Amino acid sequence: MAEIVIKNVAKSFGAFTALHGIDLTISDQEFMVLLGASGCGKTTLLRIIAGLETATQGEVWIGGRRVDQLPPRDRGIAMVFQNYAVFPHLTVFENIAFGLRMKKLPNDAVTRRVERTAELMHIETLLKRYSGQLSGGQRQRVAVARALAMEPDVILMDEPLSNLDALLRLEMRAELKGVLAASKTTTVYVTHDQVEAMSLADRISVMHSGRIVQAASPVEVYRNPAARFVGSFIGNPPMNFLTATRAGTGKWSVAGQTVDGPLSDASEIDFAIRPEDLAVGAGGIAMDVRVIEPLGAHTLVTANVEGSVFRAVLDSDTAIRTGDTISLIPKPDRIRWFDRDTTKAL
Ligand code: ATP
Repeated sequence: MAEIVIKNVAKSFGAFTALHGIDLTISDQEFMVLLGASGCGKTTLLRIIAGLETATQGEVWIGGRRVDQLPPRDRGIAMVFQNYAVFPHLTVFENIAFGLRMKKLPNDAVTRRVERTAELMHIETLLKRYSGQLSGGQRQRVAVARALAMEPDVILMDEPLSNLDALLRLEMRAELKGVLAASKTTTVYVTHDQVEAMSLADRISVMHSGRIVQAASPVEVYRNPAARFVGSFIGNPPMNFLTATRAGTGKWSVAGQTVDGPLSDASEIDFAIRPEDLAVGAGGIAMDVRVIEPLGAHTLVTANVEGSVFRAVLDSDTAIRTGDTISLIPKPDRIRWFDRDTTKAL
């Protein structure tokens, strides 16, 4: 059992607060992704779980043990970083064996574990090579194999694929997902790449300015963003937002149309809809088409609605031209609303 419990963890660097009272529970064997823009605090949180950084306040528990006072080697974790940290002067075998030798495992056990994890990562033919002679993708496989060989309760990964080219990233992503699911470890994975996050995670913690804004399954953060920030950060293109003005109890005026919405007393709230949740039809939101981008399966339309940029992903055979005024109807069950003051979902 390696549940990770983070209780009210805060971190300040001088006067700057990088993390504000984070509470998060990561279940045993869960794949949790920390996702957010550069500087939001995800690496700091990972380093606090690892013990490479000390929290200013709060507690970290792994597998029912409080670990925030323990050094990294006593926490039952293994780490994989962006820059691989593979030793170039050691063979692949010795790189994978490194942690096991530190733990003074008998030689035959070391050999067994190295061979098994090398096979898992498809690098069994490279064991005698020096790591300095390997490609980036091969080195990253060695780094993952070295972490897996430790048979840790928890694997912590910080942007492990970001130095690989696009095709390799895709290949490694699928492999990592398979290998980690089979290894039954609890994984915490830092990335700023939302596609990577969506494809790997059991749950995503979306971070913003040192806080977790939402921790939920990929589908949930996509479909039901807990706050406006999540809707604007997740999805490419992101959600569209328009001002909704109160037009009666539960009635809102959005770009000249009256739409049923929440029972808020506010005079203005935000209306939100994903670009793919719109269909051409009379009596919808009127917009001036600015740019049309055929993407094969779909066409991305960038338009202007009352001075705001608005994007729609439409069927590729929709007959429209730049300069047209079109009317798009939002799917009623896909409309989301956000409070103006708290920015939270209504
Ligand atoms: P990135 O994706 O760019 O790595 P991140 O979300 O992982 O970003 P962190 O590295 O956790 O962000 O940093 C969070 C904030 O804390 C940043 O504003 C950063 O400048 C600051 N910070 C991190 N480490 C230190 C440090 N040692 N001293 C001062 N400030 C720091």
